Amino acid sequence: MLRSETAFQKCIAPGCGATASIQEALVTCPRCGDLLDIQYDWNRLPIPADWTVFERKWGRRHDPLCHSGVWRFHELLPFASPEHVVTVGEGQTLLQRADGVAPYVDLPAGQLFLQYEGLNPSGSFKDNGMSAAFTHAQMIGARQAACASTGNTSASLAMYCAVTQRMRAVIFIGSGKIAYGKLSQALEYGAQTVQIEGDFDDAMFRVREVAEQLGIYLVNSLNPFRLEGQKTIMYRVLEGLRWEVPDWIVVPGGNLGNSSAFGKAFSELHCLGLIDRLPRLAVINAEGADTLYQLYEVQGMRWDQGRADRATSDAYFRRLDADQRRASTIASAIEINRPVNLRKCLRALETCDGLVRRVSDQEILDAKAQVGAGGIGCEPASAASVAGARRLRQEGQIGAGDRVVCVLTGHQLKDPMATVAYHSRDPERFREVLGSRGVHEAVFSNPPVSVPNDFEAIVRAIRPSD
Ligand SMILES: *Cc1c(COP(=O)(O)O)cnc(C)c1O
Ligand SMILES: [Zn+2]
Repeated sequence: MLRSETAFQKCIAPGCGATASIQEALVTCPRCGDLLDIQYDWNRLPIPADWTVFERKWGRRHDPLCHSGVWRFHELLPFASPEHVVTVGEGQTLLQRADGVAPYVDLPAGQLFLQYEGLNPSGSFKDNGMSAAFTHAQMIGARQAACASTGNTSASLAMYCAVTQRMRAVIFIGSGKIAYGKLSQALEYGAQTVQIEGDFDDAMFRVREVAEQLGIYLVNSLNPFRLEGQKTIMYRVLEGLRWEVPDWIVVPGGNLGNSSAFGKAFSELHCLGLIDRLPRLAVINAEGADTLYQLYEVQGMRWDQGRADRATSDAYFRRLDADQRRASTIASAIEINRPVNLRKCLRALETCDGLVRRVSDQEILDAKAQVGAGGIGCEPASAASVAGARRLRQEGQIGAGDRVVCVLTGHQLKDPMATVAYHSRDPERFREVLGSRGVHEAVFSNPPVSVPNDFEAIVRAIRPSD
């Protein structure tokens, strides 16, 4: 179906292909219930001839649209006119060459890069998407927004509401399932925070129900506009590599919004002729929340140009319910068993010849300690990417000469409990926070030393032992 607008919503199911105006707030296809994409009629839009279009904006940073790491790439997500754009300076993030971490992954110096999205205003990559969703919410005049969250989506939503003073935020979280750094943000930014007895998957189910009934704008990554904002993480990766495509993008997988957005970003750049090859994509699950791994690697489920058989995933989810299996990992941001973007992620894995791996909480925390020791730091879920890259390197999937980019999704200070429990060597705290997680030792721990309040004793304690 042809539409008169240059940007519109379109169902991802090839057999359906229903379209809708971007003036509508939909979470799924009204005709078949599948996910929606934002699509563009590139033939009628000014397509950037090359990357210099974006580079030139660096010199105009007094303009918020050039300063934002999302809206600097407006030409690649042209669904909003500039006057509707909502920005708080998100996306000022850096691709860091991580020679301090490369040996852990078994890569030579200069081959491992960490895209540190913890530098965003609310401390996670979610701001990239929230800026775009918020822009859409402004376009259509929404007054109230809601999300279910493992923490960072709610922190981001609450921040955008507070900064712009233009919407009311309602946040649904599973009880006891949120890291303190994230909860403290939602509370301080003034969002209404509703703790539901249950986990993220329960909260997600309820927020969809409530948002639909009450006409509240939903900002979970089901929201296709959010993923448009998250595409820009990859634009900035390319920018950091002087527009050269890396061999691998490695990303943690929770609700699979990021991986889906990255696949769409690369597929569009390829179609527009801005890149001449595609990177490979590796999505990393936690062992205790490994739906994508089970479906893709174990059961062999594939997008297959949209013919992916929903019966496979439906049967998997029915069995989860029958066995009362709940997601469980220290990496709370990816503690999700029913990833809402599953089908888009399968499509991204097809686009980018992808792989899925799962890593244990032990591997996640050891990798996190190494990321910290390399001087950057991240929250547990983010370190799954580095743990996954290490695995893929051991397997030989990632070659010694490959250029690898791991996405660090969230800031180190989001979950200090996990970090302190790992490093302190306090057996009680270790058991309390990590014991139930199958984490047995803190291989790279750096415990504090206790000394009496005495000069000599302090000097003895801090003297290098060599
Ligand atoms: C939300 C989040 C994830 C999961 O990302 P998805 O797009 O849902 O797969 C990973 N890490 C952090 C820190 C997050 O906040
Ligand atoms: Zn449809």
